[in-house]
Amino acid sequence: MALTLLGGTRAAAPRHQPASRSSHRSTTTAASTVATQPLAGKVVGIDPGHNGDNYTAPAVIDAPVFNGRTTEACDTTGTETDGGYTEASFNFNVALYLAADLRAEGARVVLTRSSNSGVGPCVTQRAAIINDAHADAAVDIHADGGPPTGRGFTVLEPVAVGPNDAIVAPSAILAADVRSAYAAATGMPVSTYDGTNGLQPRDDLAGLNLATEPKVLIECGNMRNVTDAALLVTPTFQQAAAHALAQALTTYLVGS
Ligand code: ZN
Repeated sequence: MALTLLGGTRAAAPRHQPASRSSHRSTTTAASTVATQPLAGKVVGIDPGHNGDNYTAPAVIDAPVFNGRTTEACDTTGTETDGGYTEASFNFNVALYLAADLRAEGARVVLTRSSNSGVGPCVTQRAAIINDAHADAAVDIHADGGPPTGRGFTVLEPVAVGPNDAIVAPSAILAADVRSAYAAATGMPVSTYDGTNGLQPRDDLAGLNLATEPKVLIECGNMRNVTDAALLVTPTFQQAAAHALAQALTTYLVGS
C-alpha cells in the first residue's frame, strides 16, 4: 500500500518538473514507477456479469429497463456448465484476478459488484457505476451459453445508439487489443458460431449502449460446450484470461 501511495504521489511529477540532480532519490522512484506501474493515474471499470443469487429474485432481475435504444431485462441469471458451474462465478473470479493485475500496474479499479452472493445490480446501474467513476476504459466479463457444438470467445463491441456515440471508435481499438491478447494468452479459439473472427458489434446491451468510456464485453468461451467448459472452470484458465485482459487494457491505455 505504501508503494502505491508513493507511486501515485510522485507519478505526475516528471511531466511538469524534470527532477534536478539534487533529487536523485525522487528521480529513481519516479523512473521505477513508470516502469512497473504503467497504469498509474488510470481508472479501469470491470463489470462481472450477472450475480450469484439472481435466480432467487426473478421479479427484480426480470424488470424491464431502458438500455439507451430499447428495453431489456434488469439482469439475467447467466448460464452454467453441464456440471453446474455458474457463469456468475466464472465472471466474478476472472474479475477479481483482473482487478489484482490492474492494481499491481497502478490502476484504480472500479467493480460493479463486490461479491457473488447478491442480486443485480441492473445492467443500467452497472453502466452508471463505471461511467460515474470516469473510467478510462472498461470491460464487461461474461461467458456464453451458446450451442453445445460451438466453441470459442467473442468480443462484443458497441454500435452508436446516441449515449455512446463518442466511444464507439476507441472501443473498436480496445476490442481488437482484447481479441489479440486473449487469443494469444488463453488458447481459447475465436467463436465458431458468433461474430466475425472473434468480433461482434451489438446494439442491444445496456453495458455497451450507455457507456461513456471505451468499453467492450467479452464472452470468454462457451459454457455449454464441454471442451470450453473444461477450461473455463479452472483457476489456471481464469487467471490466464485475466492476464490477457490486463495486457490488452494496458496496451490500449498506454498507447492511447
Ligand atoms: Zn452473461
